Amino acid sequence: MKAVVIEKPGTVRLARVEKPVPEPGWALVKVKASAVCATDLELIEGSMDGISYPLIPGHEWSGVVEEVGSPEDSCWIGKRVVASNDIVCLTCHECRSGRWRYCQSFREIGFKANGAYAEYLKVPVYCLCELPDTISFVQGALVEPLCVGLGAIDKAGLKLGETVTIIGAGSIGLNILAAARAAGARRVIVAASSEKRLGFARKMGAYATLATAKGDLPELVKESHEGLSDVVFEATGIEECIKASFRLARKGGRVVLAGYGRNRDMEIHIDDIHINNLRVIGAAHNWNYINTALNLIKDGMVNTELLATHFMPPEDFQRAIEMTRSRPEGFVKAMFTFED
Ligand SMILES: [Zn+2]
Ligand SMILES: [Zn+2]
Repeated sequence: MKAVVIEKPGTVRLARVEKPVPEPGWALVKVKASAVCATDLELIEGSMDGISYPLIPGHEWSGVVEEVGSPEDSCWIGKRVVASNDIVCLTCHECRSGRWRYCQSFREIGFKANGAYAEYLKVPVYCLCELPDTISFVQGALVEPLCVGLGAIDKAGLKLGETVTIIGAGSIGLNILAAARAAGARRVIVAASSEKRLGFARKMGAYATLATAKGDLPELVKESHEGLSDVVFEATGIEECIKASFRLARKGGRVVLAGYGRNRDMEIHIDDIHINNLRVIGAAHNWNYINTALNLIKDGMVNTELLATHFMPPEDFQRAIEMTRSRPEGFVKAMFTFED
């Protein structure tokens, strides 16, 4: 099969590799759509710990089950699916407590196991979720980042009618926006360094958009949120933006850190948190919100399909990677599509 393989940090190529064979308890999925995530750039650069190469990346995908490793799973064959990427043992203390993500032998598809930049991938059957016929494969592939947004909202304990500011209009920021709107947040502001992506935020129902380069951010936020925001979501992982996030939350408010800090140490002005009694909440990963995401999409409460802005075959992987890196005007996500 065709696959985009990171041979070693810095070296990516389109290769012919063996089609995976599903062992008992696993399914072989024919990939229909597979999105490129900014996190994949970290894998390509080799800046993420504990990754072994060669690796086929790709953790935002949808497809159709073609084969299963155990006859009792044959009901899955032919089903349209999305899936959790969490390969876990199901027997350790964390798994038994329902916290798969903290499994002692946790591996994530697309990071520590081959992912979906390929015609096929193999997935544990316990990870599979059926994709309703009314949801496209493209929207299906965008369920994973939507789950990141839903998880951030849940961890924030967002209440109906609370005011929200989101810093960052990349995939995570825009997915938090979609989730916050569905969760009943009021006057959701999206702030980003450039105007480039704020148009997407407006299309997705942001109350106001702010280009952070222009003017005093807390003053601009106060124009919409009296006394600043109840909840601030930081979705960039950039030091400057994290510092700014603590100054946009109201006294006693919450700041949710939803951006990857790229393994860096940062300087934080602790008094912004201490004096204002802020609650700071870490929000990483897609935590099995797949059914919630599918139900919200199915019922028309969330639609993130517009985030897939560029479609291409895997042969064009260099262009997909380059666009993900340079974020040209009108670009949010590149999506690989595969022929039948
Ligand atoms: Zn991702
Ligand atoms: Zn476990």
